[in-house]
Amino acid sequence: MSGPNTNFDPVQVTPLDEDQVQKMVEEALAAIEGAGSVAELKQVRIEHTGEQAPLALANREIGALPPQARKDTGKRIGQARGRVNQAIKARQEALTAAELEQRLAEERVDVTLPVELAPRGEIHPITGMIDIVSDIFIGMGWEIAEGPELESEWLNFDALNFPPNHPARYLQDTLFVDPPEHHQLMRTHTSPVQARELLTRELPVYVACPGKVYRADEFDATHLPVFHQVEGLVVDKGISMAHLKGTLDHFASKLFGGVTTRFRAHFFPFTEPSAEVDLQCFVCHGDDTTCRTCGGEGWIEWGGCGVVNPRVLVACGIDPDVYSGFAFGCGIDRAVMFRNGATDLRDMVEGDVRFSRSLEGLAR
Ligand SMILES: [Zn+2]
Repeated sequence: MSGPNTNFDPVQVTPLDEDQVQKMVEEALAAIEGAGSVAELKQVRIEHTGEQAPLALANREIGALPPQARKDTGKRIGQARGRVNQAIKARQEALTAAELEQRLAEERVDVTLPVELAPRGEIHPITGMIDIVSDIFIGMGWEIAEGPELESEWLNFDALNFPPNHPARYLQDTLFVDPPEHHQLMRTHTSPVQARELLTRELPVYVACPGKVYRADEFDATHLPVFHQVEGLVVDKGISMAHLKGTLDHFASKLFGGVTTRFRAHFFPFTEPSAEVDLQCFVCHGDDTTCRTCGGEGWIEWGGCGVVNPRVLVACGIDPDVYSGFAFGCGIDRAVMFRNGATDLRDMVEGDVRFSRSLEGLAR
């Protein structure tokens, strides 16, 4: 009988001897060094440190060794695995740093390159003018009112004291909407908004109504079939023509800079007395007979106004013996024209941003 096997079993020991382990380490290190990317290194890690890696398989053999051999072999394989893991860690750091470097180089931004600005729109001069006008009236404590552009004939004409045979109702001026028996039209002025406000608001009323209006008009440099107005309406106790004049002078002065207005007697169905309003020329103040803005007149036609006709108040259910008021209206498009030097009204509707840009200062 032989005693316990105290010698190394040559078969078992072969994969665990120093040369073999050294070879495994060298192969692993070579593979690690050869990995050109983090992704490749990941594959190498699986092959050389995973469950099926040669060093891992060798490690499992240790248990089968005689006790006196386990310690040395275990230490040798442990050190070998440590070297491989360390090499992977070092390579991982180097590759990550290199890849970051490369990405930074590729994504580098040259801040000195000329910038191509994205084209931006502009506030349309008419919108800009409506904002400016609205701000002036809000500054006086008024409110801004809006109404529908498709309007009833009654609110557009009857409530405003237009007789049934008034020429403004004729088809060549007014765009009626089919079917005719519904008596609907595209509003020809913003006055129906005033009628709506009188019918719905508590008195007193101080409102400005900017908006789009429609007339069967020519489309040329000085006419548009769709244009913009602002109308103002005040109904309160003790309101007179003097309040109207003071309001328009303030409005003109704010909008055009230190100018006044003058009235010329006129007729409108919805006001009595009525007047046309002229604006003092804000370029020459009447001192230049060759002024192009006013044509040497010193005054620019601006709009219409008057004291609210008592019949309009009655139509809106207001007692004209207690209340009185004034109303005025003027063109927004025309104001842009002579305030900002636009020469062709068609530019207002053609949507060319170069036109809006040329009047850029307007909206500020
Ligand atoms: Zn002038």
